[in-house]
Amino acid sequence: MSQNKITRRDLIKVFGASAVAATGLFGMSAKAYAKGANHVVIIGGGVGGSVCAKYLRFADADVKITMIEQNPEYITCLRSNDVMVGYHTLDELTFNYNTMREKYGINVMIDQVTGVDYDRKTVSTKNGEKVQYDRLVVSPGVDFRFQDYEGLSKELSDTKIPHAYKAGPQTLLLQKQLESIPQGGTAIICPPQNPFRCPPGPYERASLFAEWMQKHNPRGKVLICDPKDRFTKDGPFKKGWERLYGYGTDNSMIEWISGSQGGRVVGVDAKNMTIETDGDDHKGDLINIIPNQQAGKIAQIIGLTNHSGWCPIDRHTMESTLHKDVWVLGDSSIADAMPKSGYAAGSQAKVAAQAIADSLHGRSPGKAIYSNVCYSLAGENYGVSIAAIYEVRDGLIKPKGKSAGVSPITDKPAQPILEAVYQKNWQREFVKDVFS
Ligand SMILES: Cc1cc2nc3c(=O)[nH]c(=O)nc-3n(C[C@H](O)[C@H](O)[C@H](O)COP(=O)(O)OP(=O)(O)OC[C@H]3O[C@@H](n4cnc5c(N)ncnc54)[C@H](O)[C@@H]3O)c2cc1C
Repeated sequence: MSQNKITRRDLIKVFGASAVAATGLFGMSAKAYAKGANHVVIIGGGVGGSVCAKYLRFADADVKITMIEQNPEYITCLRSNDVMVGYHTLDELTFNYNTMREKYGINVMIDQVTGVDYDRKTVSTKNGEKVQYDRLVVSPGVDFRFQDYEGLSKELSDTKIPHAYKAGPQTLLLQKQLESIPQGGTAIICPPQNPFRCPPGPYERASLFAEWMQKHNPRGKVLICDPKDRFTKDGPFKKGWERLYGYGTDNSMIEWISGSQGGRVVGVDAKNMTIETDGDDHKGDLINIIPNQQAGKIAQIIGLTNHSGWCPIDRHTMESTLHKDVWVLGDSSIADAMPKSGYAAGSQAKVAAQAIADSLHGRSPGKAIYSNVCYSLAGENYGVSIAAIYEVRDGLIKPKGKSAGVSPITDKPAQPILEAVYQKNWQREFVKDVFS
């Protein structure tokens, strides 16, 4: 097969003139695809989408790959809690798509996907483009259920009650709010119901807020109002809170109200900075409601979700069980015991990339094995972790053998100090795997 060089005219034929002009598509180092090459279109250039694009390129040098992402840059949620307390800047968490274009020959279109025609195998976008695919990958992250809370809305979360659960302007707003809490004031954090993105995220945030207050607002307090009675790594987290913030004493900087103690939030009065729960009302100087979640909006619009609000998949390949030749990755997918984490999204993306390459070349998919590692901070120098290898067993994704484990609950100082070191190195190297 001849490898023709892609011309501007070819690009305009595939993507339309406005996309080529608006996105600078022609500026990419265009890979010379063979005529009639298979075309994989990926919706979402976050963790799942980017890892899938890169590993699909490794699995198939000739496949044409187009990734459609609505933002020109991606800000990782990983380490975004650290930004709020000054350990990182948002700039350090911001990545562009030059490497995807130049090193891996991925066509990156900056545009918002608005629909999919499964019969015609066509994706349509806000800029009016129609992009044909042979295989489609959808990794759009999460959408927030503001409607589950009286008085809460997207507008309110952008201005006064930020969730800061997609890194960006809300991260900086929450940082500002933390710094503005009067001496002796209260930050309220309200984690969502399961399942949700980054299960340890709210508890790491509470920990880092308490640590920040020790230095800048020593009479301040963090109140966690939770709809649940347990949370991931709760044993080692609470041990860390005892050691660092006096948890369980009258002077604790962190108070956790569980679901059965009336911790579930049902509404917010932003004017009076008060939340209403199943138990008491609570007044805060900062209110961080992290709303319940469901699959990213585009997955709902294009009919990839079921009654649960998430996307069912074939556990062996990550292919949608609702639409053929469509794969769903990351937070939007129903992956059973796997948490909604970046690491999990990347692991699923690698399985999917191989399965897609196999399907394009008429091969049967291999046996799927997934993994997840998740480090969090209970303090800058106090790490806690959870890890597992997963297999498909009895029709579900479950931890394999005795591969699953959580940090020990320990009084020994060395263990959490080491885990904090691992956390920093792990996050840096993981993000490199995604974007370089
Ligand atoms: C505070 C916090 C800390 C975290 N820390 C960690 C951590 O330490 N380790 C870890 O493994 N995970 C962590 N996570 C979780 C991790 O960020 C997510 O699980 C991961 O990003 C999921 O990847 P994804 O591809 O499903 O979604 P995302 O990475 O969110 O990517 C979705 C992409 O799709 C795009 N998109 C959506 N709709 C459209 C559309 N219609 N058209 C075009 N583009 C669209 C979005 O703009 C976005 O870029 C953390 C999360 C939070 C909130």
